[in-house]
Amino acid sequence: MTGSLLFTTMEEDREFDLEDYTGAVARWCPGCGDHAVLTAVQRLLESEQLAPEQTMFVSGIGCASRFPHYLHTYGFHGIHGRALPVATGIKLHRPDLRVFVVMGDGDCCSIGAAHWIHAIRYNVDMVALMLDNQVYGLTKNQTSPTSPKGYPSNTQPQGAYLPPLNPLSVTLGVTNASFVAQTADWVPAHLFATLQAAYRHRGFSFVRVLQRCPQYTVEIFQQAVRDPSKVELLVHPNGIVVPELDQLYQRKTPHDPSDLDTARRLADDEGAFRLGLFYRNPTLPRYEETRRPTTIAADQRVALLNAELDRYAL
Ligand code: SF4
Repeated sequence: MTGSLLFTTMEEDREFDLEDYTGAVARWCPGCGDHAVLTAVQRLLESEQLAPEQTMFVSGIGCASRFPHYLHTYGFHGIHGRALPVATGIKLHRPDLRVFVVMGDGDCCSIGAAHWIHAIRYNVDMVALMLDNQVYGLTKNQTSPTSPKGYPSNTQPQGAYLPPLNPLSVTLGVTNASFVAQTADWVPAHLFATLQAAYRHRGFSFVRVLQRCPQYTVEIFQQAVRDPSKVELLVHPNGIVVPELDQLYQRKTPHDPSDLDTARRLADDEGAFRLGLFYRNPTLPRYEETRRPTTIAADQRVALLNAELDRYAL
């Protein structure tokens, strides 16, 4: 568990600035895209004026999972692939908290894949950021589920054997998916606008952040960083609206984010670095509203459990 317990007393008229959210000094590699995501997240917390003691960041294992240490909010740096069930438990018990989950591609799409699928289906109100550098970086360069086919790593030096898993297509294929977006660490205005839209959505917001890893996968996003014509923006008044990018990114596709079939088609087509809101449906059921919490008191539950166990002791 990270985060100082010495938050200042809650006062109605407090105003927060960026320093209120600043934790330890980030120890990612120079040029790592995680730095840009951290900055955007801190800007979001400030712009939405989220009280640090009402905000929770949960992570698993990986470079991206160091996030909770670098924010002065509550945090839980858990175990590999288990950030989503931990965050779900937190949100169900403390619905007043704003819950964010930060995962890498290995954390989310490999060991955590089962939790990912069911978190989408449960549609609990939280923001899930998947920082996708397409490699296991913390353990120093192994093929991840999203590594491009043929990309060499320490585990597959002749190149990744399999085509990559597409995180957007997977998410959009799960029942009850309610918010699916893609952004990139090197487009700060788009990154911030996407985080803001994700935060304001009530439900499970899945954001894939294309994230540069200058240590191991520098080539993967290099063309898109240098050449804006490789990037395509999804545009719609109900989507991610960033007018200052209009000139820089000329390649645009109109897409109504309420159209699930088109969202799936656009996600499947990997011919461009496509940024924007693929899908949003605020009417889908959220688990915290549809579940039936137990009304049995804690001591009664213990008594029932003991009685059940006693059946096997006879
Ligand atoms: Fe970032 Fe890659 Fe370094 Fe990890 S290994 S901190 S992802 S640059």
